[in-house]
Amino acid sequence: FLSIQNVKKSFGNVAVVKDFNLDVGAGEFVSFLGPSGCGKTTMLRIVAGFEEPSAGKVFVGGKDVTGLKPNQRHIGMVFQAYALFPNLTVAQNIGFGLKVAGMPRAEADARIAEMLNIIKLPDFGDRYPYQLSGGQQQRIALARALAPKPKLLLLDEPLSALDAKVRLSLREEIRAIQKKLGITTIFVTHDQEEALSMSDRIVVMNEGRADQTGTPFEIYNRPSTKFVANFVGTLN
Ligand code: ATP
Repeated sequence: FLSIQNVKKSFGNVAVVKDFNLDVGAGEFVSFLGPSGCGKTTMLRIVAGFEEPSAGKVFVGGKDVTGLKPNQRHIGMVFQAYALFPNLTVAQNIGFGLKVAGMPRAEADARIAEMLNIIKLPDFGDRYPYQLSGGQQQRIALARALAPKPKLLLLDEPLSALDAKVRLSLREEIRAIQKKLGITTIFVTHDQEEALSMSDRIVVMNEGRADQTGTPFEIYNRPSTKFVANFVGTLN
């Protein structure tokens, strides 16, 4: 469903992504796992259309989206820091993309209510972001990303600013919502446990390349390089 073909990205003469290839099936949940600076965020931004690749192509649903702007790609994103609009209510935040797309008010209100139910915060529509916990804010951010029914969901370290307990419960909740909606998802993380517990497949990145792509079982039990073995902790 998502196909990333021979993608490279340099900033000046620094090669940050070096020949990246990946095919993701419809409804699959794939993590980009690797240490800080390995290029995983840059690769996600290329899929989203925030960065142009220096070479290579990105296809979504068989369509070449390489030259398209982010708003032409039907993608939902959630970032690490809560990026909610502070002066809008929860309902207005979730409805933001629907309003931009010109959805009629009644239809948008119904969709907002549906999203609030999906994230299990049905009565939170009239609150403001500052009245919510970090975990609640990230659930709202997820609802906002999913409300316009995007083709792809891109998650960039969405749990890393939260405390350990909330992080654990949100891992399961994100995965449950993703499965329920059947949305193809890329999840960027530097946290091995997060990737191992949540993913259908993991791409372990090392210095701009995919060192290994496989199921959590394969990555953990049959690391194909020393780097992977070290990074997922098998050698410790
Ligand atoms: P982190 O988890 O720290 O964000 P990452 O694996 O996501 O790490 P990237 O954010 O993709 O890594 O960055 C990879 C490298 O590319 C870093 O060395 C970064 O400094 C560099 N880089 C990213 N964006 C730019 C840019 N716009 N201009 C120049 N260099 C950049």
